[in-house]
Amino acid sequence: MLTIAIDFDDTFSADPDLWREFVSIATGRRFGHKCILVTNRTEDMGNDVRAEVGDLMPIVFAGVFSKRSMAARAGYAVDIWIDDTPEWIDVGGLGYIGGDRPSP
Ligand SMILES: [Mg+2]
Repeated sequence: MLTIAIDFDDTFSADPDLWREFVSIATGRRFGHKCILVTNRTEDMGNDVRAEVGDLMPIVFAGVFSKRSMAARAGYAVDIWIDDTPEWIDVGGLGYIGGDRPSP
């Protein structure tokens, strides 16, 4: 069983129907993997995230902390990250400023 973390902005949001189908297949009986959504948004900025993702998978709001550290704090050891900006998975402290963060 793999734990697969999917980013929201410009990843899940880039093609929600694709990722809904992916999650449904990945977590279904044939494969039995676990999918979670991990975003650097804060919970306050999460209404559209919750609306899009619904109860498809758990959502981790990492906020200013690194996605990896907050996924771990929520109890997930992520095996695979699906993210349009993977260079940010281990970077925290800068806060979410949309899809326009400075280069690490
Ligand atoms: Mg992104």
